[in-house]
Amino acid sequence: MKATERQKQRFKKYYQKNREKLLQRRKDLYYSRREYELAGRRQYFLENKEGCYKRVHDWTKKRIVEIWIDLGNKCCRCGYDNVVALEVHHKDGTKQKERRSRDYTKLGYDLNRIELICANCHKVEHYGKSKINRKD
Ligand SMILES: [Zn+2]
Repeated sequence: MKATERQKQRFKKYYQKNREKLLQRRKDLYYSRREYELAGRRQYFLENKEGCYKRVHDWTKKRIVEIWIDLGNKCCRCGYDNVVALEVHHKDGTKQKERRSRDYTKLGYDLNRIELICANCHKVEHYGKSKINRKD
């Protein structure tokens, strides 16, 4: 069913008039559902801990390998290609945010925002930055 122009207008008016109330109702619904969902998820996690850990681990590992291959599988600064020493460098320093939102692999897949560099170049990169910051 498609809303007609008139219905849309009416809803718009209603929304403008009751904006606070509607937003509050949406918030309440979100939080009440959220608690319920989190409780369910937590219960599942407690019952299937090993499986959960393994699944996340496998998935993350697989995605990271995919990302590394896409990035050339070697340091983009010096060409070092021993995978043991390769790290993902976040160009705009969003690592913390990604970790918090657990969006690492999703954002990590945005190849414009990350670089694959070796531990050596990574250290140099961050040392250089902190040095610049200290000078300011
Ligand atoms: Zn390097």
